[in-house]
Amino acid sequence: MKKSFKSFIMAFALLLAGTLFVSMDKACPKCDGTGYIRNECHVCHGTGYNDCRTCNGAKMIRCTFCFGDGKYVCPHCHGRNPNCVKCGGQGYFDCERCKGTGKITCTICNGEGHIRCATCNQQGYLQWKCPECNGTGEVKDDED
Ligand SMILES: [Zn+2]
Ligand SMILES: [Zn+2]
Ligand SMILES: [Zn+2]
Ligand SMILES: [Zn+2]
Ligand SMILES: [Zn+2]
Repeated sequence: MKKSFKSFIMAFALLLAGTLFVSMDKACPKCDGTGYIRNECHVCHGTGYNDCRTCNGAKMIRCTFCFGDGKYVCPHCHGRNPNCVKCGGQGYFDCERCKGTGKITCTICNGEGHIRCATCNQQGYLQWKCPECNGTGEVKDDED
């Protein structure tokens, strides 16, 4: 009789301990126990990149040296001397910068058409410490 009472107490104690353990280590419901809140970056929509506004994703921009003409007027004869030795009488030079195409690789995105998202540091998401559990991922089960 005395023995079974003792085992009953033991079982009760274990049950109580188990309940306490669970309630003390309850995973934070706000962050799912991870300790941080993560949101998709609203600027790049999770891609980590944004379209280059300078070339609008075209990867090329107008040549800044010839202003997109692909050539520039001979500075020696101003295009007026057909015997000019500098330009050979053509009156203009092919733009070396853009090789006469009038377009150069976008200097802002280096011809990639997109730039790293500065808002999320190319992560694609924004993350901060969970204010509910202060980054621990666990909350005390305060029921009162
Ligand atoms: Zn971003
Ligand atoms: Zn660009
Ligand atoms: Zn040019
Ligand atoms: Zn010339
Ligand atoms: Zn949390």
